[in-house]
Amino acid sequence: MKAALLLCCLPGLIFAPCFSSPEAPSDRPAQTAASAPPTPASVWHNTMVDGVNYLPLEDVRSFYKLLPLPRRDGGEQAARAAVGNAETELIFGPGERELRICGLRWELSHPLKEAPNGDLLISRLDVTSIIEPILRPTYISGRKLIRTVVLDAGHGGHDSGIITPKVREADTTLIIARKLATELRKRGLHVLLTREQNQYLSAQQRVDIANKESDALFLSLHLNTGRSDTSGIETYTLTPTRPGNKCDAASTALATALQASLLRHSKAKDGGCHHAHYSILSSIQCPAALVELGYATHEEESAKLATDDYHSTLSMALADGITAFAARMNPEAILQAIPKAPPPVATPKEVKAAQKKKADAPPTRRKKSSRNSARRKEVRERSSRRRRR
Ligand SMILES: [Zn+2]
Repeated sequence: MKAALLLCCLPGLIFAPCFSSPEAPSDRPAQTAASAPPTPASVWHNTMVDGVNYLPLEDVRSFYKLLPLPRRDGGEQAARAAVGNAETELIFGPGERELRICGLRWELSHPLKEAPNGDLLISRLDVTSIIEPILRPTYISGRKLIRTVVLDAGHGGHDSGIITPKVREADTTLIIARKLATELRKRGLHVLLTREQNQYLSAQQRVDIANKESDALFLSLHLNTGRSDTSGIETYTLTPTRPGNKCDAASTALATALQASLLRHSKAKDGGCHHAHYSILSSIQCPAALVELGYATHEEESAKLATDDYHSTLSMALADGITAFAARMNPEAILQAIPKAPPPVATPKEVKAAQKKKADAPPTRRKKSSRNSARRKEVRERSSRRRRR
């Protein structure tokens, strides 16, 4: 029942930065090359296309230390570009808003473009709101310990949500929320349910419950509706184009952790992670996501959604996703380095320069240390000779 939750999409300014790494591209409005200060961020080459700030893929590849990869099959057509390393893979296209990052589909906020030199351009907003928090979750600013999980079983009372011969959305989401609450409590988290029974709550009442907590994440559970041949799990976070959402980067990390875990446990089709202006997410002050756990209108998926086994599978998957996200949000988690990449192939000129640098370099600490140990050995032998005398 997306329609009831959907607000109009507000095109707007890019808002406050969501992460603090000094070298990451800021989502503040771009400065012109002439006025840009000589900071590390000036490595980002901004290009305006149709009023949107874009960055070349080459900048993204270089910043995250990724290598060009062969363009893999991105569906029926070849992907437009692929970069990655042993741990990370970003495949752009073939759709103009399609990115598969570490195997998960993300719908981009702005279409991919091509620079006159043929380089792929990605909107700065997509780099800052999707790529950065996924590749470097521990750089998300304002990370804090998550102790509370607010679970929102969608619909309730006179608002039954989708009803099919197999499932009633309000009931299914409540069953899964209860199972998930039990599992999360076993893992030591404080859990609040927006509703414990079949009762109606407005979106604002649900949001208010979450906003009273200072250490919470918010998760709203729903079932999807569509064509009879459409199936899969989809996860949504708020469109990052409105001012005032301080947790967009964290919400991206949450959505990614949830979607990855759900797909791994359920083997359902990847419906992708998306941004949307759901009212239930628009005034939340903590990391928040809305999960469409499957299509009630798809016969096979609907049949699964009616079984206790599948409810358990989904609740376990959500618990694992929440636990993984909470671990990354822990401020005590060690800041992870930029994703490791194999060293780039050096040119002969670079090899020569490196050899010269090595030759000119002062003795290393190790050499000093071996000299020191030789000296200590000599002193020991001398004193031993003295004792023998
Ligand atoms: Zn719904």
